[in-house]
Amino acid sequence: MSEQLTYEQLKQAAAEFGTPLYVYHAERIKAQYNRLVNAFDGAPVRFFYAAKALTNINVLKYVKETGCGIDCSSVNEAKLAVKAGFPADRILYTSNNIAFDEIREAKAIGAHINIDSLSNLRKFGEAFGHSYPVGVRLRPNIMAGGNLKISTGHAASKFGVPVEAVDELLQVMKETNLHIRTLHIHTGSEIKDVEVFARGLEVLFEVAKRFPELEVLDLGGGFKVPYKPGEEGTDMETLGKKVKEEFGSFEKTTGKKLQVWFEPGKFLVSECGYFITQVNVLKESGSISFAGVNSGLNHLIRPMFYGSYHHIENISNPEGAVKNYNVVGNICETDNFAEDRPLPAVREGDLLVFRNAGAYCYEMSSNYNSRYRPAEVLVKDGKLQLIRKRETLDDLLRNQVEL
Ligand SMILES: *Cc1c(COP(=O)(O)O)cnc(C)c1O
Repeated sequence: MSEQLTYEQLKQAAAEFGTPLYVYHAERIKAQYNRLVNAFDGAPVRFFYAAKALTNINVLKYVKETGCGIDCSSVNEAKLAVKAGFPADRILYTSNNIAFDEIREAKAIGAHINIDSLSNLRKFGEAFGHSYPVGVRLRPNIMAGGNLKISTGHAASKFGVPVEAVDELLQVMKETNLHIRTLHIHTGSEIKDVEVFARGLEVLFEVAKRFPELEVLDLGGGFKVPYKPGEEGTDMETLGKKVKEEFGSFEKTTGKKLQVWFEPGKFLVSECGYFITQVNVLKESGSISFAGVNSGLNHLIRPMFYGSYHHIENISNPEGAVKNYNVVGNICETDNFAEDRPLPAVREGDLLVFRNAGAYCYEMSSNYNSRYRPAEVLVKDGKLQLIRKRETLDDLLRNQVEL
């Protein structure tokens, strides 16, 4: 089974469903999940797919079939998870800065809940006492991740209960008879360095002793995947070994056997995704060659939002003479997808395909400039199936109240 779609498959998808188009390769998701499972073989580990990366219901159903759990960042994602068939025990809900009512809803679903403020922990304890075990998201004061917008564990970050406030946390636990089963951290996204996870674990082990009912350490997500050719992601095999060692020695010294949970988003779905665009216009300006495609930051905002690199392939002319282009969109802001990027000669009408388009791509798309969001296609068992229709003018008007 190939881990990549062929140019022929991508061209077929474009011909059948039009462009711009998101295409997801199901078997690639499974291969990534299997890699995790193998890397942590023998560890008391559970994985929960961070659904916010890509929430198409068919993708959620497919992830469910692999055996993976699901991590939700809103109660709506938890409702989608239920709809996709996940049993409550495989649903984890990790939110930040939300109203307590939403936590109540997640509890009604029966999800595992990670709470990220003393204020909501107190409310939870007052409402439910010891009856429902919860997790606490801690802020470990570790700077990590691809850039500041996706760094979530540092000392100035909004996320979690600061680890230096553990005394207050224990006070809330005592006063409200909270049942704290899980300690959680999520330090950021695109963390390549295995040592960052080890440091997070150290912080957790340090405070773990103070929580008598603790069963789970949840290390969040944030594994790095390769974006550029030749680039390397997080070495999962090394991380798996390290985590097994650390948990083993913790058990030896404390007599406590803990589980470890992870919430991978990008790792599971980034590489399964291909975004197909078509070149509308070529323009030469001084030394710059612009290739203007039929999309923009409304469909794929990551390059403009946080400078992400997406590898681009000209699947219509792969053997063309290589030249440098600024690949740009059609939105009324500067919306560069790539600058000075070497590509095989681009002609108007060519299909340019963006790689790593599974995670945080469709999911962050919008109708800005009153353009339709792209369609989505799932390739499974070699079959191409539409899993989201392209929008129409009716979609743009759907919730407007015309006076
Ligand atoms: C976004 C997020 C994840 C997933 O991060 P990736 O970098 O996609 O792996 C996991 N846990 C929490 C709490 C998150 O907010």
